[in-house]
Amino acid sequence: MAKQTQAFNAEIKQLLDLMIHSLYSHKEIFLRELVSNASDALDKIKFQSLTQDNLMTPGTELMVRLEPNKEHNTLKITDNGIGMSPEEVVEYIGTIARSGTKKFAQLNQELKERPELIGQFGVGFYSSFMVADKVTLHTQKAGTHSGTLWESKGDGTYTIDEIPRAEGHGTSITLHLKKFEADEEVQDFTDVFVLKSLVKKYSDFIAYPIRMKGETEDETLNSQKALWLKSPSEITKEEYKEFYHHLSHDWNDPIKTIHYKAEGTMEFNALLYIPTQKPWNFNMRDTEYGLNLYIKRVFIMADCKDLLPPYLRFVKGLVDSSDLSLNVSREILQQDRQVTQIRKSVVNKLLGGLKDMLTKERGMYEMFWNEFGATLKEGFPGDMPNKEKLQELVLFKSTASDGWTTLEEYIGRMKEGQKDIYFMTGDDLGKMMDSPYLEKLKEKNYEVLLMADPIDEWVTDSLREYKEKKLQSVTKEDLNLDTEEEKKKKEEETKGFLERFKPLLESMKDTLKDQVKDVNISERLTETPVCLVAGSHDPSAHMQKILSQMGQDKGLNAKRIFEINPKHPVIEKMMSLSADQQKLWTEVLYSQALLNEGSSIPDPKKFSKQLAELMLKQ
Ligand code: ADP
Repeated sequence: MAKQTQAFNAEIKQLLDLMIHSLYSHKEIFLRELVSNASDALDKIKFQSLTQDNLMTPGTELMVRLEPNKEHNTLKITDNGIGMSPEEVVEYIGTIARSGTKKFAQLNQELKERPELIGQFGVGFYSSFMVADKVTLHTQKAGTHSGTLWESKGDGTYTIDEIPRAEGHGTSITLHLKKFEADEEVQDFTDVFVLKSLVKKYSDFIAYPIRMKGETEDETLNSQKALWLKSPSEITKEEYKEFYHHLSHDWNDPIKTIHYKAEGTMEFNALLYIPTQKPWNFNMRDTEYGLNLYIKRVFIMADCKDLLPPYLRFVKGLVDSSDLSLNVSREILQQDRQVTQIRKSVVNKLLGGLKDMLTKERGMYEMFWNEFGATLKEGFPGDMPNKEKLQELVLFKSTASDGWTTLEEYIGRMKEGQKDIYFMTGDDLGKMMDSPYLEKLKEKNYEVLLMADPIDEWVTDSLREYKEKKLQSVTKEDLNLDTEEEKKKKEEETKGFLERFKPLLESMKDTLKDQVKDVNISERLTETPVCLVAGSHDPSAHMQKILSQMGQDKGLNAKRIFEINPKHPVIEKMMSLSADQQKLWTEVLYSQALLNEGSSIPDPKKFSKQLAELMLKQ
């Protein structure tokens, strides 16, 4: 074959144009792409030589070599991998790689609009044109004797010639680096320190040595340690920890490490860590999260959100897939079925690992829970398919003791005749303990779960029941605490109360008609004269408070029911008061009910005045 000049096809021209005029600041990713191609070529020859003799000289060490040349302003990247035949060069280097073709049309438009995405696309070989104004590729297919020399200035054409390669099989790519203006802030890719740090950053875990000529001898720039590809039995605790520090920049040790390999329909390795402590920026809105994604040991992206649901955002780690195509972008990943499956598997493993910790290392689990429990609970509204698993993992405070309890443990302590799981939400555990809403339950010796995280409102809302026991808020109507017999007795009693207190109830209803839905005889109070309860289908007072803090309570303000304790002397005394006095007392009691549940009263000044008025009456 004589030297020929050929034109790139239209798609390549577009791509080249993009690369050459790219304003993308991370031009350095070209090295990642070329090293990754070299590593693939090494994988291929390694694999093929298993079944094919004479493909390479026995004892050949497979490697990648970097040769910077300051004087000529070039960088040469060489591998002794499988190489390409002339046809392959034309096919692969003259057209967009098979894998890329389909997505190119859409990709091209996207890259024009958002050049920062280039780093996330596997633009492969062509990324060299971001840093070079001429690229020479010399390659020879293993098992053949004719080499191919390909060259292009990225100007729409390339030349191709047949020239054997002195070193035999493999590929060398020489980049004639562009001269960048000082203000373009592009690194010097002939600088050994720059190259070393880039290899560390992107290609440290490539399984073949990446070498560069040092002062006296060749230096290997990558650690080659793809820790996650080793079997867990070969990895020491120290190695796991070291790697965690490197990965997370967290100098504490992780509380749990989960390392596994998925096989079958989908192959990937996952190395996952649960930190001991929240990082300082954990609760900041824009903090990135996600797992690092590798494809066949090549780093693709950090913080890949598609691999981790938000409620597990505290998890650090990586996934190394053998199936995904290198030509992935964040956008493409979102729709990828395999990615969804990987995430599912990762979530399963994590929830399983947490369950394990809960059963075997309770103290550790409680430490974890103190840090990340509130985050994990977001899974209730967020990941309903995993509700069954999450409900086994959730811990609550309760009236039974100072410590944490699981739902399972709560059920184990339920009293005879107790039908439901009782809970109360609020923002202060101490206040909740003294809440009038608990009076009746305390009398019955029923345990109540106390929930003080804002998310708990959503947790209980989606949990609804556990092992066929209903989760019942103590601040809602229909507490249903009594046995059939007690109920009957109560009904009689209540009927009597209703009759006796009818005029008072009417007067109270009239006074509070704008504030409450109804005034009723209470069955839950023993010591307190009044309280407010939410209708069984209405949001609780605490929920309304949270929503109003979030500015989302528009139109919600569901009116509640004002319950009075018919056995309380204050209520009794009210019967004999004048209409005016009844009105005053009702208003004062209503304010007290608000204060008791942790709400604020709308008009504190008026409340104080009313109290003073009552005091003077004595
Ligand atoms: P991709 O790697 O995503 O397929 P590239 O444009 O980087 O896209 O490469 C296109 C193809 O060229 C590769 O799939 C591979 O077949 C071939 N190729 C690239 N670099 C090398 C190399 N160093 N050795 C052998 N083949 C290579």
